[in-house]
Amino acid sequence: MAASTANADNADRADTPQVTRTQVGIVGGGPAGLLLSHLLAKQGIENVVIELRDHETIKNTHRAGILEQQAVKMLTESGVDGRVLTHGDEHEGIDLRFNGESHPLNFPDLVDATVTLYAQNEVFIDLAAARKRDGGDIRYESEVIEVADLKSDTPKIRYKDVSAGADPDAVHEVHCDILVGADGSRSFCRRAVGQEQGHQDFKIEYPFAWFGILTEAPKSSPELIYANSPHGFALISQRSANVQRMYFQCDPAEKTEDWSDDRIWSELQKRVDGPDGFQLKTGPIFDKTVLGFRSFVREPMSHGNMFLAGDAAHTVPPTGAKGLNLAFADIKVLFEALDSFYATGSRELLDDYSETALKRVWKAQNFSYWMTSMLHTRKDAHPFETKRALGELETVTSSRYGQQYLAESYTGWPHA
Ligand SMILES: Cc1cc2nc3c(=O)[nH]c(=O)nc-3n(C[C@H](O)[C@H](O)[C@H](O)COP(=O)(O)OP(=O)(O)OC[C@H]3O[C@@H](n4cnc5c(N)ncnc54)[C@H](O)[C@@H]3O)c2cc1C
Repeated sequence: MAASTANADNADRADTPQVTRTQVGIVGGGPAGLLLSHLLAKQGIENVVIELRDHETIKNTHRAGILEQQAVKMLTESGVDGRVLTHGDEHEGIDLRFNGESHPLNFPDLVDATVTLYAQNEVFIDLAAARKRDGGDIRYESEVIEVADLKSDTPKIRYKDVSAGADPDAVHEVHCDILVGADGSRSFCRRAVGQEQGHQDFKIEYPFAWFGILTEAPKSSPELIYANSPHGFALISQRSANVQRMYFQCDPAEKTEDWSDDRIWSELQKRVDGPDGFQLKTGPIFDKTVLGFRSFVREPMSHGNMFLAGDAAHTVPPTGAKGLNLAFADIKVLFEALDSFYATGSRELLDDYSETALKRVWKAQNFSYWMTSMLHTRKDAHPFETKRALGELETVTSSRYGQQYLAESYTGWPHA
């Protein structure tokens, strides 16, 4: 079903907003917004996605890379594309490395599950292609500047077309039954509703960040290595046979231009050194970023007829690889609630959305916080704390129950 578009009053007046009427208006065309749009369209529920950036920019933005088994299923079983199975790299475990020794965890043996390395920009490419193939209404280069009437039966999205050559003063509107804010961690939709309206934000900052690189090099290890070292944390992960993704803990104020390739490789190597002589495989570095992180949750994840999903409602530090997976898990709950609403007219599942989604959100917050504190070293940490974290790593790796706890959380709990 196509959304209908009309000028509200008079087609000749530039100050008259161009209005589109649809069932679900979605702000943000990241993984959360596009997946929801795809699932709704399959059920015949019309929707429009308003996305600030252009297709090319999102396609070339490197972010998450680890998909839980259930996120993979959501892509393949909903007919997005099977590319995640042919181009993704299934991983059976991780190595926890501390005191210079690796401790492998085998997920199929521990919890009968795996994860798949498939970059977020590939997920975007597949979702965007599926929406295009199915005639989806995705408005790129469109900046939402207002969301209004959120408690009414017709919430409204106001946006400007920010593409080259567009009239910068023209305001467009989407009128919908349900408005979904899937507009990422700086969410405009979330900020439109404040604490005075009964909402609460829970957040903590961390005194460190990740320095991330993409390098053209062979794999250093078949599985991801999460390393705790006296010099700080490092993550050695893979993207493909020839491209690797690695991170090391750094000061949030660190500048990428201060880091030559040689300096980066020497820092990374220090953090994985050990008596086993483990050596990283190096190559030219073609992408460097400093990624600050925090833990954040907005409660409740809804306000009237506006529902928040993905990073708009919560962010996690990347240590547990939960950000993208949590966005997909929200969408599963929200899609089922919307499907039920349009099939039966009942708001029951919509009213339960926030409470249902938040159960998983807090489990993921706990896991991400736990992994972060166990693996990172604070600059001002008391030696007791450093030794305690090593004791925790020893506890986890030396016990099958400890390994299973980590493996179950990392590969993902069953969807609600
Ligand atoms: C640099 C970086 C590295 C990361 N690495 C990892 C990782 O290794 N593992 C992991 O699990 N997670 C990682 N994450 C987190 C992960 O990328 C997010 O959890 C995931 O993108 C959430 O998807 P989303 O759709 O909710 O939000 P987003 O992907 O942020 O999508 C939101 C979309 O909304 C659009 N938007 C914002 N404001 C407006 C507006 N006013 N009008 C219209 N559109 C708007 C944005 O352009 C964006 O495309 C990383 C994040 C960053 C920033």
